[in-house]
Amino acid sequence: MPKQLKMTFTCSVCGQTHQELPAIVYEAPYYYYNLSEQERIELAVLTHDFCIIQYSDQTDRFIRVVLNQKIIGSEETLQYGVWVSLSEKSYNDYAAHFKSPDYIASYFGYLSNQLPGYESTLSIKTTVETAINNNRPEIFPHDDQMDDPFVRDYYEGITREEAERRIHAAYGMEIK
Ligand SMILES: [Zn+2]
Repeated sequence: MPKQLKMTFTCSVCGQTHQELPAIVYEAPYYYYNLSEQERIELAVLTHDFCIIQYSDQTDRFIRVVLNQKIIGSEETLQYGVWVSLSEKSYNDYAAHFKSPDYIASYFGYLSNQLPGYESTLSIKTTVETAINNNRPEIFPHDDQMDDPFVRDYYEGITREEAERRIHAAYGMEIK
C-alpha cells in the first residue's frame, strides 16, 4: 500500500483544520432503525454489508453501498455509506459473489436511508454497480428523477461549505 499524503482543509463551519472529508455512514437501513429493540431481535438480521427484515407478510433485503456526492469545483466527493433495497434475485446474486473480488454486476435498488436536509430520500431509484477488489458497490440515482432535490444535488453538485455543514451535522464537532 503506497503511503498517501493526507489532505487537510480549514473548515468553513468551525474554523479548525480537518483531514480529508470523512464519509457520512449509516450502519443500517432506515427501516431497521424504525424497528423497536424487540422487533430488531425477532425480525431482522444485520451485518456490516447485509440486512434482512422478515415481516409476517414480506421479506425486505438490503445491502450497504456508497454514494459519491459531487462537490462543485472540487475533485473530492462527499461520500455516503448508505443502504439500498434489492429484489430477492439481485440480493442472492450479490450475496453469492460477495467474496469474488472481480465480480461485476449491476442491480436496481431503492435508496433506503433518510438523509437529513431533504423531505424524503427513501425510494429514490438507483443503479447499483458492484466494485472490484471487494470494495462496496456504488449507487447512481436514476437521472429521470430531476424533480427530486436530492437527485438534482447529486448531479449538479453541492458547495464545499454545504459538504462541511453536512459532516458537522453528522458528527458534531468531533471531526479528527
Ligand atoms: Zn469543522
